[in-house]
Formats: sequence, structure tokens, C-alpha cells
Amino acid sequence: MGTSTEPSADEAGATDAAAEETEESAVETARKQLDRAATRIDIDPNVVERLRHPRAVHEVKLPVERDDGTLEVFTGYRAQHDSVRGPYKGGLRYHPAVTRDECVGLSMWMTWKCAVMDLPFGGAKGGVVVDPKGLSETEKERLTRRFAQELRDVVGPHTDIPAPDMGTDAQTMSWFMDAYSMQEGETVPGVVTGKPPVIGGSEGRDGAPGRSVAIVTREAVDYYGWDLSDVTVAVQGFGSVGANAARLLDDWGATVVAVSDVNGAVYDPDGLDTRDVPTHEEEPEAVMTYDAPQKLSNEAILELDVDVLIPAAIGNVITADNAGRVDAGLVVEGANGPTTSAGDAILEERGIPVVPDILANAGGVTVSYFEWLQDINRRAWSLERVHEELEDEMTAAWDAVRTEFEGGARTWREAAYAVALRRVAAAHEARGVWP
Ligand code: NAD
Repeated sequence: MGTSTEPSADEAGATDAAAEETEESAVETARKQLDRAATRIDIDPNVVERLRHPRAVHEVKLPVERDDGTLEVFTGYRAQHDSVRGPYKGGLRYHPAVTRDECVGLSMWMTWKCAVMDLPFGGAKGGVVVDPKGLSETEKERLTRRFAQELRDVVGPHTDIPAPDMGTDAQTMSWFMDAYSMQEGETVPGVVTGKPPVIGGSEGRDGAPGRSVAIVTREAVDYYGWDLSDVTVAVQGFGSVGANAARLLDDWGATVVAVSDVNGAVYDPDGLDTRDVPTHEEEPEAVMTYDAPQKLSNEAILELDVDVLIPAAIGNVITADNAGRVDAGLVVEGANGPTTSAGDAILEERGIPVVPDILANAGGVTVSYFEWLQDINRRAWSLERVHEELEDEMTAAWDAVRTEFEGGARTWREAAYAVALRRVAAAHEARGVWP
């Protein structure tokens, strides 16, 4: 099966990507994307103007005692973009490159991601300017508890619900939830998502982004009239997102011919046994230990002649430099921002459709929504129920984006943004501006 002649896409997670290539900040990129999406739909320009700005950005100073007894003061942010459809939702990252502008840009993308999934949340993002590898476990705990305390007035299960992101994990969320709960005088599991199930986390949360990538790939393959059992797939990155997507697609009949980690790729044109390739979690960076007929570089996996290419490792891997050599019939973005704006334009020109990250990997935030529902209702769901409900949410979002695409959007990305913006704009118009 060949490359589609259908029009293809614009970007949301290609956020960091676009920012890097054009040397503009994440917030500038996000604003350009908003403006571009706004031209596609009939929207009140006043609403667009409002959406160009976050509702608030909280900056906090975090004095933390280091293990050697010295005091260090860290800076933390929480950007809250828009809550017209519900509480703010978005990750907290611990990374040295965290900035106010980056948080604002990423909070805008969370607004669109929640809206394209039709979740009753708005977008937020936060973080601390710190290299978490330079902190001991106890230092990280003290930092997290202080961060929770400083944000206490502006987060909560009905106002703003953080989640893990780069440099943070289920343990970080546990400390955050505990610190918040101690101050509230009651256990409040719904203040964060991505917790361990024993304190209100959801079954199926970890595998959800990869599962959504597989579901969306399956739907896109069907849209182009291909049969999943005839489809070849290459997946860059065999971590949480890539391995879950690859194994599910393998289970559903696709032929996964190549997967990679940071060291390179294994390639078998007859198909890999994906269960025998160690994932990042099972054995870090051990993909190359799999006995495959061919080993390739990480650059080469992106240029394989396959039906579906899933970049699921890091951002900015499909760029102006290599987009001309991408030989896939369809690209499904598993990572956030794997395609830069320039790379995207080249793929569009070449008629290679790109299903954007804000739709494809949105299984994570969707199961976070399920976790929040379970916390509010104090009732845990089975893994089977999580899978069923995720399937329903993903196919509903896919149908909405497909309808927009068929209605004349140039790309899948443009269609996804238009669906999201239409929903956010309609909510603003219905509620109006107060006073
Ligand atoms: P992970 O750490 O579990 O796995 C990452 C994989 O990519 C590993 O196999 C690693 O070896 C490989 N990798 C790292 N650097 C690489 C490089 N330079 N070149 C090629 N491969 C490289 O990460 P993950 O959670 O699967 O996340 C992957 C991407 O998906 C990231 O962009 C992340 O932001 C995004 N994402 C993750 C989630 C989630 O909840 N896990 C949700 C949405 C989006």
C-alpha cells in the first residue's frame, strides 16, 4: 500500500520541536498554532485574543534543605491557561530548562489535548528549575512537599490537577498528594493523577499513551483502506509509549519490522517478536540484544520503507533535514513533538499524512481523567473497564477529527486543532465574559 494522496497535518506536541527549529519560545509557537487553527473555523476574534494568554502563571520560591545542611532556593511555576471546560490539568516537570514561557506554551497545548479528547478539563503545566539527577530521594521529597505547599491555594481536585511529566513519577505524585492532604486535614487523592493504584491511582494508566497510539493507528490504517494484517510498522523508542503501541499492534495482526532505543534499531522484514524485545522498563537500552537479521541506526529507522512510522522516543526527530527521506505511508506521533514545523511542511507537501500527538498519545491524560473520576467517586475500576472506556474515548475523538479532516482540513493536525478550538470557543461563547 502506498502513500496517501489525502491532505495531511499541523502541530501541538511538535511544540518543543517547532520552537527549537525556529528559535522561538514554546509560547510563541503555541500562539502561532492557535492563530493558524483560528483561521479554519468561524470563531469570535475576542475569544482567540483571550486564548492567547494564560489565565495565571504562579511563580514560587522553594527553600529546600540539602542533605549536607545547606539551604538552596529553587524556582517553581504553574501556568494555568484556560478552565472554561473544567479544572486545569497538566504535568509537573523537574528539569533544568523549565521556564515560565515553556510552562505557558505547554499549558496551551494541554488545553487543546483535553479539548480534542472532549475531557472536562482545561490546560496547565508546571515545573521546577532543577536537575532531578542532582537530588537525593530525600531532597526530592522535601522539594516536592514544599512545592505542594506553595501551590496549595491554586491547585485542588476541582481547580487544578497536576500529573507526572519529565523528571517526576508516581512517587513524586504520592508526596504531593500527601503534603496537600495533610494540610487539608483529609485524604484528597483527586488533587493529582499518576499515583500508584494503592492510593487512588488507576489501573492501566502507565500503558495508556501507547494503547491510544495503537488504537489511533488502527483507525487511521482503516481510514486509508488498508488491512492491519498487511501493514508493516516501525517504532522509534521502545519505552512506555513505543513498546505498548508496538506490542498491541503486533497482537492485532500488524507486522512490526523495526523498533529502536537510544543505541539503535533492530530490523527484520519478516516481523519482530515484539514480546521478546526488552522494553525500556524491562531492561533499559537493551533493544540491540534482540537477535535480528539487521541492525540499523536511529536515523535509519525513520527512513525505512514501511506503511506506518511511529516516532515514540523524543521530540524533534523528523526535521527539514530528513523529512524528504521519510518513506512511510503514514506517520503517527507517539512522542510529544517528534515533527518540527519545517519537517511537517515537507511531509505535507509529499502527501504523507501525520496523525498528531495531541490525539495519538492522549490516552495518558484520558486515563488520568478516569483516575480522577475514580478518586472523586471513591471507586476503583478494573483494568478491563479502563481499556473499554479508553477505546470508546479514543474512537469518539478519532471520529470527530476524521469528520473535520473530511470537511476540508489540510492535515490531520489542522483537523485536531480545529476540533479542540471549536469546543473551547463554543464554551467561551456560551459562558461569556464576566462581569
Ligand atoms: P521512556 O523513557 O519509557 O522510553 C523512551 C525510549 O526512547 C527508550 O527506549 C529510549 O532508549 C529511547 N530513546 C531515548 N533517547 C533517544 C534518542 N535520542 N533516540 C532514539 N531513541 C531514544 O519514555 P516514554 O514515556 O515512552 O516517552 C516517550 C515519548 O512519549 C516522550 O516524548 C514523552 O514526552 C511522550 N509521552 C509520554 C507519555 C507517558 O505517559 N509515558 C505520555 C504522552 C507522551
